[in-house]
Amino acid sequence: MKKHNFSAGPCILPQEVLKQASKAVLNFNNLDLSLIEISHRSPDFVEVMENARNLVLELLDLKGKGYSALFLQGGASLEFLMTPYNLLKEGGKAAYLDTGTWSSKAIKEAKLLGDIEVISSSKDKNYSYIPKKYSIPTDVDYIHCTSNNTIYGTQMKEFPKTDGILVCDMSSDIFSRKIDFSQFDLIYAGAQKNMGPAGTTLIVVKENILGKTGRQIPSMLDYQIHISKDSMFNTPAVFPVYVSMLTLQWLKDLGGVEAIETINIAKAELLYNEIDNNPLFKGSAAKEDRSNMNITFLLTDDSKKEKFDQMCKDAGINGLKGHRSVGGYRASMYNALPLESVQVLVDLMKKL
Ligand SMILES: *Cc1c(COP(=O)(O)O)cnc(C)c1O
Repeated sequence: MKKHNFSAGPCILPQEVLKQASKAVLNFNNLDLSLIEISHRSPDFVEVMENARNLVLELLDLKGKGYSALFLQGGASLEFLMTPYNLLKEGGKAAYLDTGTWSSKAIKEAKLLGDIEVISSSKDKNYSYIPKKYSIPTDVDYIHCTSNNTIYGTQMKEFPKTDGILVCDMSSDIFSRKIDFSQFDLIYAGAQKNMGPAGTTLIVVKENILGKTGRQIPSMLDYQIHISKDSMFNTPAVFPVYVSMLTLQWLKDLGGVEAIETINIAKAELLYNEIDNNPLFKGSAAKEDRSNMNITFLLTDDSKKEKFDQMCKDAGINGLKGHRSVGGYRASMYNALPLESVQVLVDLMKKL
């Protein structure tokens, strides 16, 4: 039996996607060749890349609105650097919200290229909440935020209101909920949290914000070059892109972002209810900022830890250990995690 996979990333993927992907590794599109041994310029793979890019814009409701979707490499971590390279003018300034480990890593990289203003931070309380009171400077080239803090279990419900350029790291909650994606000018996300295997990064960028920095940008870091080459400037990560395409198709068939949001809310409510009503557990994130993707919680009685861990192990639960900077437990409940897996976990919590 397959385990109940609460892994924070790389994450659970739909079983039917894994089956189809494993078939394509042996024989892709009945070509009698493997997906991973054909040219990325072959019509069969070019179609995969086109489908994947189209599905992204369709699912985010950004089709025909001036956006391009790219599947690049280097993870979300390289986007920490690519964002300022492409958007921060020489001698310019950018504003960042510091809501967790990933935000602060983004800030560190951006500082290599210019003046970075941290407009608010929740570091004072170990990133257990989302700062809400901050003023947005008007003299900045862009504002950067992180929609979901994978490690701390907080999620932004509102985003900075600005007429300027808004950038969002959506690595751990893209395609999980219906929001107005057109409020962002640049979205990036490593595939391995909610979309596919590690090895590709999704970038969705509004084309008219590019080419304005006056910087010389190395080719591999230049979004405009990647757009002009249809995301094939260099050899793309063919397998991760293919699996991402299958997952996006799976999501579309299911009814898209709106449909999965309903399921994600049901999963999150089930677990948060148990955390709030069971005296043996408590949540670690501020209630109004709780994430529906990564649910962080602690035992109130540490002497139960060994027993609970053993119960989880026996029930086939994988990946529940909290990140070392928060401790306790983290249930990552990405799109492909079925409600039944959450029910198994909640039943164990009741029995403890
Ligand atoms: C995992 C994660 C990253 C880092 O992604 P890589 O693809 O490993 O570089 C960045 N931001 C967030 C929010 C993440 O969850």
